[in-house]
Amino acid sequence: AVSLRGVSKSYGATPVLRGIHLDVAPGEVVTLIGPSGSGKSTLLRTINHLETVDAGSVTVGGEHLGYTRRGDKLVELPEREVLRRRTRVGLVFQHFNLFPHLTALQNITMAPTALGLLSKDQAATRATALLERVGLAEHTHHFPRQLSGGQQQRVAIARALALEPEVLLFDEPTSALDPELVGEVLDVIRQVANLGTTLIIVTHEIGFAREVSDRIIFLDQGHVVETGTPDQLLNHPEHERTRDFISRVL
Ligand code: ATP
Ligand code: MG
Repeated sequence: AVSLRGVSKSYGATPVLRGIHLDVAPGEVVTLIGPSGSGKSTLLRTINHLETVDAGSVTVGGEHLGYTRRGDKLVELPEREVLRRRTRVGLVFQHFNLFPHLTALQNITMAPTALGLLSKDQAATRATALLERVGLAEHTHHFPRQLSGGQQQRVAIARALALEPEVLLFDEPTSALDPELVGEVLDVIRQVANLGTTLIIVTHEIGFAREVSDRIIFLDQGHVVETGTPDQLLNHPEHERTRDFISRVL
């Protein structure tokens, strides 16, 4: 579903991603772990083309989100086409980023209607079903400020699902939540994983990563240091840096 080939990215003189290779198969659940500043968020942002890369390529379903191939050249696509392609990749942020002036329902119907993918009625029907799925049917007409952090994050997940993305990216979806609200959000992510959606999750919840991942990737200083099944990576890490990190977070 997602393929990164030799992806490098610097901010000014600071290299943040250094030659990342990563393939995520359809339906696979991959978690990214690594120290602060290792490039996890930047990596996610390159996947939905919120960041451009300096070298290498990122494709989703075999296609670049921001470019098209003309002969042997890559040509930038117009903004509108990029927005359309970007809907194939959902992104859920640490801080929910809901529209504060819109209700839960309106937050979910906004993108599909604005992009002309669904009629108002179709979007509302889909949003209602999604709100039910994430356990928020009774909060349909509430504004973000009337919802707890856990509820807001569940709306954000429903909003991402409304575009029926091929891939859903989560960037520390529970780290802004009070501890007692983490479980309800992880339950929803688990449910989405079980439906066969391709997920790439950045998380510090190692227990959750162990349970839900097909594969865990350890990133350090812009490199994929090690990748393996949860058992391989967490119980039998091969690299010193991985062992170090895991002993500090477990
Ligand atoms: P954390 O666990 O703290 O979220 P991370 O692994 O997600 O860290 P990134 O946010 O990807 O790390 O950042 C990697 C490096 O790139 C950091 O050194 C950060 O300061 C730098 N960086 C990120 N975004 C920018 C930006 N827009 N401009 C300049 N530097 C940036
Ligand atoms: Mg980050």
